[in-house]
Amino acid sequence: MPQEKPAEPSREETSGVQGSGYDFSRCKLCAAYASHPKYQLEKTTVYACAACGFHFIDHLDCLPCESPGDATKTLDRRAREYIEGRLPASEKQLRKNLLLVKRHIALSGAHCLDIGAGAGLFAHLLAEAGAVVQGIEPQGVFREFARQRFDLALNGETIDARHWQQGFAGFFDVVTLWDVFEHVNLPAETLQDAYNVMKPGGWLFLDTPRRDALFYRISEWSYRLSGGANSRLLGSLYSPLPFRHKQIFTLRQLRTLVERIGFSVTSVHSSFFQPHNRMVLVCRKP
Ligand SMILES: [Zn+2]
Repeated sequence: MPQEKPAEPSREETSGVQGSGYDFSRCKLCAAYASHPKYQLEKTTVYACAACGFHFIDHLDCLPCESPGDATKTLDRRAREYIEGRLPASEKQLRKNLLLVKRHIALSGAHCLDIGAGAGLFAHLLAEAGAVVQGIEPQGVFREFARQRFDLALNGETIDARHWQQGFAGFFDVVTLWDVFEHVNLPAETLQDAYNVMKPGGWLFLDTPRRDALFYRISEWSYRLSGGANSRLLGSLYSPLPFRHKQIFTLRQLRTLVERIGFSVTSVHSSFFQPHNRMVLVCRKP
């Protein structure tokens, strides 16, 4: 007799403030109840799915994160200096990302949504290029920075919110998810939600670390060869802290997911040996 499985959790149960009640035996990618602890790290446990091979940690962020008195709301001098200090490095990458977007669509007048907008720099670059830009950033400290630095009003509501799903269904020409996909609670749902707010013919651009790349392999070897004693390298790839890395895809898993949702993949930019093991997907909604 087949083992009885728990009822499928609703979107509210898996994505809301009850997120910590998620049953991690349920794979966040394929939804099979086939995931088991694989790597016990110092601060978190990496689960692996026996059905699809997906790796994810046993932690979800509490969203919305802004309870009264939440420290993330405060953009004090230290926080501002920290964010400012990191801007030049990210600007270099984001300007490359902008060129990639421009190779696919003329931005003048295009409706763009940057999901996980952070300090607002990419949204700012899009606006400079003539796009009509909106951005989502759940952390208040970044929204405040974007307001002061770039005069941008980023939205704190995540893409699953009614504001986006009902108010902007089939609306955007471009959606970008730069360095975001590994951070979200439920990547498959996030991607479906992104699909919903895009126009037919709209473009999706995303980048995320790649698991089937050299650094991850070395980290796994190091863990296995030490019998789990050396979890430092793997531990540098995941974190249970808010808004940190919760899952890392292989290229095949990511490609399968975007196609399952209905996107067609236009191009993939990646390398096994790339220093940051980053992969970039350019996709189109038919
Ligand atoms: Zn799975």
